[in-house]
Amino acid sequence: MSNDYNLYLEKRKCNYCSNSIVIHRRYSGEQLCPHCFEKSIEKIIYKTISKYKMIKSQDRVIVALSGGKDSITLLYNLMKIQKKSYHSEKLTALIIDEGIEDYRQKSIKRATNFCKKFDIEYKIVTFKEKIGKTLDEIINIKKNSPEYKYACNYCAIIRRRLLNDGAKELGGTILAMGHNLTDIAETFLMNILHKRLNLISNQYFFKQEKQDISQFFIKKVLPLIKIPEEEIFLYANIKKFNYYAPHCPYREKDPILRKRVLGFIQECKKYSPEIEYNLLNCFLDLSEILYNHYERKSHNFCQKCGYPSGISKLCTFCNFVKELAD
Ligand code: SF4
Ligand SMILES: [Zn+2]
Ligand SMILES: [Zn+2]
Repeated sequence: MSNDYNLYLEKRKCNYCSNSIVIHRRYSGEQLCPHCFEKSIEKIIYKTISKYKMIKSQDRVIVALSGGKDSITLLYNLMKIQKKSYHSEKLTALIIDEGIEDYRQKSIKRATNFCKKFDIEYKIVTFKEKIGKTLDEIINIKKNSPEYKYACNYCAIIRRRLLNDGAKELGGTILAMGHNLTDIAETFLMNILHKRLNLISNQYFFKQEKQDISQFFIKKVLPLIKIPEEEIFLYANIKKFNYYAPHCPYREKDPILRKRVLGFIQECKKYSPEIEYNLLNCFLDLSEILYNHYERKSHNFCQKCGYPSGISKLCTFCNFVKELAD
Protein backbone atom coordinates (compact mmCIF):
# COMPACT_ATOMS: atom_id res chain seq x y z
CA MET A 1 0.00 0.00 0.00
CA SER A 2 1.33 3.45 -0.84
CA ASN A 3 2.05 6.13 1.78
CA ASP A 4 -0.60 8.37 0.18
CA TYR A 5 -3.19 5.67 0.64
CA ASN A 6 -2.17 5.10 4.28
CA LEU A 7 -2.46 8.85 4.90
CA TYR A 8 -5.89 8.84 3.27
CA LEU A 9 -6.99 5.99 5.61
CA GLU A 10 -5.58 7.73 8.72
CA LYS A 11 -7.56 10.89 8.05
CA ARG A 12 -10.89 9.13 7.62
CA LYS A 13 -13.01 8.08 10.59
CA CYS A 14 -14.83 4.80 11.06
CA ASN A 15 -18.60 4.77 10.40
CA TYR A 16 -19.22 3.11 13.78
CA CYS A 17 -16.64 4.72 16.13
CA SER A 18 -14.13 7.55 16.00
CA ASN A 19 -11.01 5.52 15.13
CA SER A 20 -8.99 5.87 11.93
CA ILE A 21 -10.06 3.51 9.21
CA VAL A 22 -8.23 0.53 7.76
CA ILE A 23 -10.55 -0.01 4.80
CA HIS A 24 -12.94 1.89 2.58
CA ARG A 25 -15.30 -0.65 1.02
CA ARG A 26 -16.02 0.91 -2.33
CA TYR A 27 -18.82 -1.55 -3.13
CA SER A 28 -20.84 -0.55 -0.05
CA GLY A 29 -19.38 2.86 0.84
CA GLU A 30 -18.54 1.68 4.39
CA GLN A 31 -15.40 2.95 6.15
CA LEU A 32 -14.17 0.77 8.98
CA CYS A 33 -11.47 0.82 11.66
CA PRO A 34 -9.59 -2.47 12.34
CA HIS A 35 -11.86 -3.46 15.24
CA CYS A 36 -15.14 -2.76 13.42
CA PHE A 37 -13.77 -4.41 10.25
CA GLU A 38 -12.92 -7.58 12.20
CA LYS A 39 -16.41 -7.67 13.71
CA SER A 40 -17.96 -7.07 10.29
CA ILE A 41 -16.09 -10.01 8.71
CA GLU A 42 -17.14 -12.31 11.55
CA LYS A 43 -20.75 -11.15 11.22
CA ILE A 44 -20.75 -11.78 7.45
CA ILE A 45 -19.49 -15.35 7.99
CA TYR A 46 -22.08 -16.01 10.68
CA LYS A 47 -24.90 -14.56 8.56
CA THR A 48 -23.82 -16.56 5.47
CA ILE A 49 -23.93 -19.79 7.49
CA SER A 50 -27.39 -18.94 8.88
CA LYS A 51 -28.89 -17.63 5.62
CA TYR A 52 -27.95 -20.71 3.60
CA LYS A 53 -28.53 -23.08 6.56
CA MET A 54 -25.02 -24.44 6.05
CA ILE A 55 -24.62 -26.06 9.47
CA LYS A 56 -27.05 -27.61 11.94
CA SER A 57 -26.31 -28.10 15.61
CA GLN A 58 -26.04 -31.90 15.28
CA ASP A 59 -23.56 -31.72 12.39
CA ARG A 60 -20.02 -32.99 12.65
CA VAL A 61 -18.00 -30.45 10.71
CA ILE A 62 -14.73 -31.28 8.98
CA VAL A 63 -12.73 -28.27 7.79
CA ALA A 64 -10.44 -28.51 4.76
CA LEU A 65 -7.25 -26.85 5.98
CA SER A 66 -4.22 -25.88 3.88
CA GLY A 67 -2.45 -23.42 6.15
CA GLY A 68 -3.28 -20.45 3.87
CA LYS A 69 -5.18 -17.31 4.94
CA ASP A 70 -8.61 -18.52 3.77
CA SER A 71 -8.74 -21.91 5.45
CA ILE A 72 -7.23 -20.57 8.69
CA THR A 73 -9.77 -17.72 8.75
CA LEU A 74 -12.53 -20.25 8.15
CA LEU A 75 -11.38 -22.65 10.85
CA TYR A 76 -10.93 -19.87 13.41
CA ASN A 77 -14.43 -18.50 12.76
CA LEU A 78 -16.11 -21.91 12.74
CA MET A 79 -14.44 -22.64 16.05
CA LYS A 80 -15.82 -19.42 17.56
CA ILE A 81 -19.29 -19.92 16.10
CA GLN A 82 -19.44 -23.53 17.13
CA LYS A 83 -18.53 -22.67 20.74
CA LYS A 84 -20.97 -19.75 20.92
CA SER A 85 -23.98 -20.96 18.96
CA TYR A 86 -24.01 -24.53 17.84
CA HIS A 87 -22.32 -26.48 20.65
CA SER A 88 -22.03 -29.30 18.16
CA GLU A 89 -19.31 -31.94 18.08
CA LYS A 90 -15.70 -30.78 17.97
CA LEU A 91 -14.37 -29.61 14.62
CA THR A 92 -11.70 -31.63 12.88
CA ALA A 93 -9.28 -30.24 10.30
CA LEU A 94 -8.50 -32.32 7.23
CA ILE A 95 -5.19 -31.54 5.54
CA ILE A 96 -4.32 -32.89 2.08
CA ASP A 97 -0.66 -33.34 1.23
CA GLU A 98 -0.43 -33.47 -2.57
CA GLY A 99 3.36 -33.85 -2.46
CA ILE A 100 4.51 -30.53 -3.93
CA GLU A 101 8.17 -29.99 -3.15
CA ASP A 102 9.25 -26.87 -1.32
CA TYR A 103 5.63 -25.77 -0.87
CA ARG A 104 3.13 -28.08 0.78
CA GLN A 105 5.29 -29.12 3.74
CA LYS A 106 5.69 -25.46 4.66
CA SER A 107 1.97 -24.74 4.50
CA ILE A 108 1.19 -27.94 6.43
CA LYS A 109 3.55 -26.79 9.20
CA ARG A 110 1.51 -23.56 9.56
CA ALA A 111 -1.73 -25.56 9.47
CA THR A 112 -0.68 -28.02 12.18
CA ASN A 113 0.81 -25.24 14.35
CA PHE A 114 -2.54 -23.46 14.19
CA CYS A 115 -4.40 -26.64 15.18
CA LYS A 116 -2.05 -27.28 18.10
CA LYS A 117 -2.38 -23.70 19.33
CA PHE A 118 -6.19 -23.93 19.42
CA ASP A 119 -6.35 -27.59 20.40
CA ILE A 120 -8.06 -28.69 17.19
CA GLU A 121 -7.87 -32.31 16.12
CA TYR A 122 -6.42 -32.80 12.62
CA LYS A 123 -5.69 -35.50 10.08
CA ILE A 124 -3.26 -35.44 7.17
CA VAL A 125 -4.04 -37.51 4.06
CA THR A 126 -1.36 -37.80 1.37
CA PHE A 127 -1.56 -38.48 -2.38
CA LYS A 128 1.39 -40.86 -1.93
CA GLU A 129 -0.37 -43.12 0.57
CA LYS A 130 -3.71 -43.09 -1.28
CA ILE A 131 -2.70 -43.42 -4.93
CA GLY A 132 0.98 -44.33 -4.68
CA LYS A 133 2.39 -41.14 -6.21
CA THR A 134 2.93 -37.53 -5.22
CA LEU A 135 1.63 -34.75 -7.50
CA ASP A 136 5.25 -33.95 -8.46
CA GLU A 137 5.73 -37.57 -9.56
CA ILE A 138 2.46 -37.51 -11.55
CA ILE A 139 3.48 -34.32 -13.35
CA ASN A 140 6.89 -35.82 -14.16
CA ILE A 141 5.17 -38.78 -15.78
CA LYS A 142 2.60 -36.67 -17.61
CA LYS A 143 4.43 -33.53 -18.63
CA ASN A 144 5.81 -34.84 -21.93
CA SER A 145 2.63 -36.58 -23.03
CA PRO A 146 0.63 -34.79 -25.75
CA GLU A 147 -2.52 -34.78 -23.61
CA TYR A 148 -0.85 -32.96 -20.66
CA LYS A 149 -3.51 -30.66 -19.20
CA TYR A 150 -1.68 -28.72 -16.42
CA ALA A 151 -1.11 -29.82 -12.84
CA CYS A 152 -4.33 -28.35 -11.43
CA ASN A 153 -6.49 -30.64 -13.54
CA TYR A 154 -4.85 -33.77 -12.12
CA CYS A 155 -4.57 -32.33 -8.65
CA ALA A 156 -8.24 -31.33 -8.45
CA ILE A 157 -9.59 -34.78 -9.41
CA ILE A 158 -7.56 -36.51 -6.70
CA ARG A 159 -7.87 -33.86 -4.00
CA ARG A 160 -11.65 -33.68 -4.37
CA ARG A 161 -11.93 -37.44 -3.83
CA LEU A 162 -9.49 -37.53 -0.90
CA LEU A 163 -11.27 -34.66 0.83
CA ASN A 164 -14.64 -36.32 0.35
CA ASP A 165 -13.47 -39.74 1.54
CA GLY A 166 -11.29 -38.32 4.32
CA ALA A 167 -14.20 -36.29 5.70
CA LYS A 168 -16.51 -39.32 5.58
CA GLU A 169 -13.93 -41.51 7.31
CA LEU A 170 -13.72 -38.94 10.09
CA GLY A 171 -17.47 -39.31 10.59
CA GLY A 172 -18.21 -35.88 9.11
CA THR A 173 -21.62 -34.75 7.90
CA ILE A 174 -20.33 -31.42 6.54
CA LEU A 175 -17.13 -30.48 4.76
CA ALA A 176 -16.38 -26.75 5.11
CA MET A 177 -14.10 -25.22 2.50
CA GLY A 178 -12.40 -21.81 2.44
CA HIS A 179 -13.36 -20.55 -1.05
CA ASN A 180 -13.85 -16.79 -0.93
CA LEU A 181 -15.94 -14.45 -3.10
CA THR A 182 -13.07 -13.88 -5.55
CA ASP A 183 -12.60 -17.66 -6.02
CA ILE A 184 -16.32 -18.11 -6.75
CA ALA A 185 -16.41 -15.18 -9.22
CA GLU A 186 -13.30 -16.51 -10.96
CA THR A 187 -14.58 -20.10 -11.21
CA PHE A 188 -18.00 -18.99 -12.44
CA LEU A 189 -16.51 -16.81 -15.17
CA MET A 190 -14.14 -19.62 -16.20
CA ASN A 191 -17.07 -22.02 -16.48
CA ILE A 192 -18.96 -19.50 -18.62
CA LEU A 193 -15.92 -19.02 -20.88
CA HIS A 194 -15.67 -22.79 -21.32
CA LYS A 195 -19.47 -23.15 -21.66
CA ARG A 196 -19.52 -25.66 -18.81
CA LEU A 197 -23.22 -25.34 -18.07
CA ASN A 198 -23.42 -28.82 -16.62
CA LEU A 199 -20.75 -27.97 -14.09
CA ILE A 200 -22.54 -24.75 -13.08
CA SER A 201 -25.74 -26.75 -12.61
CA ASN A 202 -23.82 -29.30 -10.53
CA GLN A 203 -22.48 -26.61 -8.23
CA TYR A 204 -26.00 -25.54 -7.21
CA PHE A 205 -25.90 -25.23 -3.41
CA PHE A 206 -29.28 -26.71 -2.66
CA LYS A 207 -29.41 -29.69 -4.96
CA GLN A 208 -31.51 -32.61 -3.85
CA GLU A 209 -29.79 -35.69 -5.21
CA LYS A 210 -31.46 -39.04 -4.88
CA GLN A 211 -30.19 -41.24 -2.05
CA ASP A 212 -28.32 -43.55 -4.46
CA ILE A 213 -26.09 -40.62 -5.47
CA SER A 214 -26.01 -38.46 -2.32
CA GLN A 215 -24.84 -41.32 -0.08
CA PHE A 216 -21.40 -41.06 -1.74
CA PHE A 217 -20.86 -37.35 -1.27
CA ILE A 218 -20.52 -35.35 1.89
CA LYS A 219 -22.34 -32.00 1.94
CA LYS A 220 -19.91 -29.16 1.21
CA VAL A 221 -20.35 -25.62 2.52
CA LEU A 222 -18.50 -22.41 1.66
CA PRO A 223 -18.98 -19.90 4.50
CA LEU A 224 -16.54 -17.31 3.04
CA ILE A 225 -18.35 -16.80 -0.29
CA LYS A 226 -19.43 -13.24 0.58
CA ILE A 227 -15.93 -11.96 1.38
CA PRO A 228 -13.51 -10.72 -1.29
CA GLU A 229 -9.99 -12.12 -1.22
CA GLU A 230 -8.32 -8.84 -0.18
CA GLU A 231 -10.60 -8.57 2.87
CA ILE A 232 -9.68 -12.08 4.04
CA PHE A 233 -6.06 -11.07 3.60
CA LEU A 234 -6.60 -7.92 5.70
CA TYR A 235 -8.57 -9.83 8.35
CA ALA A 236 -5.91 -12.58 8.64
CA ASN A 237 -3.23 -9.90 9.05
CA ILE A 238 -5.19 -7.93 11.64
CA LYS A 239 -5.71 -11.18 13.58
CA LYS A 240 -1.97 -11.89 13.18
CA PHE A 241 -2.63 -15.43 11.95
CA ASN A 242 0.58 -17.24 11.12
CA TYR A 243 -0.60 -18.42 7.69
CA TYR A 244 1.46 -19.51 4.68
CA ALA A 245 1.26 -16.85 1.97
CA PRO A 246 3.06 -18.09 -1.20
CA HIS A 247 1.00 -19.51 -4.07
CA CYS A 248 1.40 -23.08 -5.25
CA PRO A 249 4.31 -23.23 -7.73
CA TYR A 250 2.14 -24.99 -10.33
CA ARG A 251 -0.21 -22.03 -10.39
CA GLU A 252 2.77 -19.89 -11.34
CA LYS A 253 4.33 -22.38 -13.80
CA ASP A 254 1.32 -23.37 -15.90
CA PRO A 255 -0.14 -20.71 -18.19
CA ILE A 256 -3.58 -21.40 -16.76
CA LEU A 257 -6.57 -19.35 -17.85
CA ARG A 258 -7.60 -18.94 -14.22
CA LYS A 259 -4.81 -16.43 -13.63
CA ARG A 260 -5.87 -14.31 -16.59
CA VAL A 261 -9.50 -14.43 -15.55
CA LEU A 262 -8.50 -13.25 -12.08
CA GLY A 263 -6.48 -10.40 -13.62
CA PHE A 264 -9.52 -9.42 -15.70
CA ILE A 265 -11.82 -9.38 -12.64
CA GLN A 266 -9.32 -7.28 -10.70
CA GLU A 267 -9.07 -4.79 -13.55
CA CYS A 268 -12.89 -4.52 -13.80
CA LYS A 269 -13.15 -4.09 -10.01
CA LYS A 270 -11.20 -0.84 -10.21
CA TYR A 271 -14.13 0.73 -12.08
CA SER A 272 -17.04 -1.43 -10.90
CA PRO A 273 -16.30 -2.51 -7.33
CA GLU A 274 -19.53 -4.52 -7.09
CA ILE A 275 -18.59 -6.84 -9.95
CA GLU A 276 -17.68 -9.90 -7.84
CA TYR A 277 -21.00 -9.73 -6.00
CA ASN A 278 -22.80 -9.55 -9.36
CA LEU A 279 -20.94 -12.66 -10.48
CA LEU A 280 -21.81 -14.46 -7.23
CA ASN A 281 -25.50 -13.57 -7.56
CA CYS A 282 -25.47 -14.57 -11.20
CA PHE A 283 -23.94 -17.91 -10.23
CA LEU A 284 -26.57 -18.51 -7.52
CA ASP A 285 -29.45 -17.74 -9.93
CA LEU A 286 -28.06 -19.50 -12.98
CA SER A 287 -26.99 -22.65 -11.13
CA GLU A 288 -30.56 -22.99 -9.80
CA ILE A 289 -32.13 -22.43 -13.23
CA LEU A 290 -29.77 -24.92 -14.87
CA TYR A 291 -30.17 -27.46 -12.09
CA ASN A 292 -33.93 -27.42 -12.58
CA HIS A 293 -33.58 -27.40 -16.36
CA TYR A 294 -31.38 -30.47 -16.81
CA GLU A 295 -33.05 -33.79 -16.70
CA ARG A 296 -31.38 -36.11 -14.21
CA LYS A 297 -30.23 -39.09 -16.22
CA SER A 298 -29.56 -42.43 -14.62
CA HIS A 299 -25.93 -43.03 -13.67
CA ASN A 300 -23.59 -45.97 -13.97
CA PHE A 301 -21.64 -46.89 -10.89
CA CYS A 302 -17.86 -47.24 -11.07
CA GLN A 303 -16.75 -50.85 -11.44
CA LYS A 304 -13.80 -50.21 -9.15
CA CYS A 305 -14.93 -47.93 -6.31
CA GLY A 306 -18.73 -47.96 -6.66
CA TYR A 307 -19.09 -44.17 -6.95
CA PRO A 308 -21.42 -42.66 -9.59
CA SER A 309 -19.55 -42.62 -12.93
CA GLY A 310 -21.95 -40.94 -15.38
CA ILE A 311 -22.07 -42.90 -18.62
CA SER A 312 -18.61 -44.49 -18.11
CA LYS A 313 -17.64 -47.78 -16.53
CA LEU A 314 -15.05 -46.13 -14.30
CA CYS A 315 -15.38 -42.82 -12.44
CA THR A 316 -12.97 -39.97 -13.31
CA PHE A 317 -10.84 -40.70 -10.25
CA CYS A 318 -10.40 -44.45 -10.90
CA ASN A 319 -9.89 -43.82 -14.58
CA PHE A 320 -7.06 -41.47 -13.78
CA VAL A 321 -5.47 -43.80 -11.23
CA LYS A 322 -5.66 -46.61 -13.80
CA GLU A 323 -4.06 -44.37 -16.44
CA LEU A 324 -1.15 -43.70 -14.05
CA ALA A 325 -0.59 -47.40 -13.43
CA ASP A 326 -0.66 -48.38 -17.15
S1 SF4 B 1 -2.76 -24.58 -7.56
FE1 SF4 B 1 -3.30 -26.41 -8.76
S2 SF4 B 1 -1.64 -27.86 -8.42
FE2 SF4 B 1 -1.48 -26.31 -6.84
S3 SF4 B 1 -2.60 -27.17 -5.06
FE3 SF4 B 1 -4.05 -25.88 -6.25
S4 SF4 B 1 -5.05 -27.30 -7.68
FE4 SF4 B 1 -3.19 -28.35 -6.89
ZN1 LIG C 1 -14.77 1.44 14.32
ZN1 LIG D 1 -14.18 -45.21 -9.18
